[in-house]
Amino acid sequence: MGQKNIRPVNNKIWTIGEILKWTQKYFSGKNIESPRLDAEVLLSYVLKKERIYLYVHFDEPLQENELVQFRGLVKKRAARIPVAYITGQKEFMGMTFKVNNNVLVPRPETELLVEAVIERLPQDREAVFADIGTGSGIIALSIAKFRPDMKAYAIDISQAALAVAQENARVLQIQEQITFLQGDLLEPLSKTGIGLLQAIISNPPYIPLADMAGLEPEVRKYEPQSALTDNNDGLDFYRRLLKNSRDFLTSSGFLACEVGIGQAKRIKLMALEKGWGKCEILKDLAEIERVIIIWKQK
Ligand code: GLN
Repeated sequence: MGQKNIRPVNNKIWTIGEILKWTQKYFSGKNIESPRLDAEVLLSYVLKKERIYLYVHFDEPLQENELVQFRGLVKKRAARIPVAYITGQKEFMGMTFKVNNNVLVPRPETELLVEAVIERLPQDREAVFADIGTGSGIIALSIAKFRPDMKAYAIDISQAALAVAQENARVLQIQEQITFLQGDLLEPLSKTGIGLLQAIISNPPYIPLADMAGLEPEVRKYEPQSALTDNNDGLDFYRRLLKNSRDFLTSSGFLACEVGIGQAKRIKLMALEKGWGKCEILKDLAEIERVIIIWKQK
């Protein structure tokens, strides 16, 4: 019976090494950007093992049920569904976050924003910050996890996104640090009558509408459009944040945002025009200006 278990439908026994090689080639033919990595992530998900396991078990044969499940996932990936939506999870700041197609897939660049904020939050006292457009909650939750002395408002206009963020807060056991609010940008805060914030953080929809058609199918077809573009020139959310968020900050407070390619300097100009203080622009690993920190005062 054991013998029967490892014989898949076409009667071939596939080892971990062979199936990875085959899948990599298949994904390459579908123009998938990281064919090997995706094959490994999907297979380790099916096997419920870390990726490193695959490398030390290349010769291990797959069970038929594993093969059947893996084939299903490969088919989805070939249709260009993002890996994170297939597995329902994504690593960010060393933690696993649940995701679904109501939220943006966390991007590694966003870790730069989170790290920059963690460094700039006060070390000597408790403070409160807001994450505008929290999506899966990665920004608010990872900062809260690294800084148990902080409290946060996690705000999103999408109730479905907030449900994902709330579930992630539960898994990370940081619910007491986070208040979830539904609404447009800072609007729910005006109603709440809160004290002043130390930081307002956002990774807003910054892709210009004109660039949307040129995006990879994973993004264009599967990620929520409202999380990607402002349906304008990509700068609308920065304009609105610069206009509305200053009064919410303490005098030592700052606004920290992820920005798209080529946007940082234009946002800095807008901030200076509106009377904000010092601006810092940070580059990501690809040397792209990716994060802007705008202080309330000089
Ligand atoms: N804050 C979430 C993230 O950084 C969602 C951002 C968004 O939907 N624009 O991934």
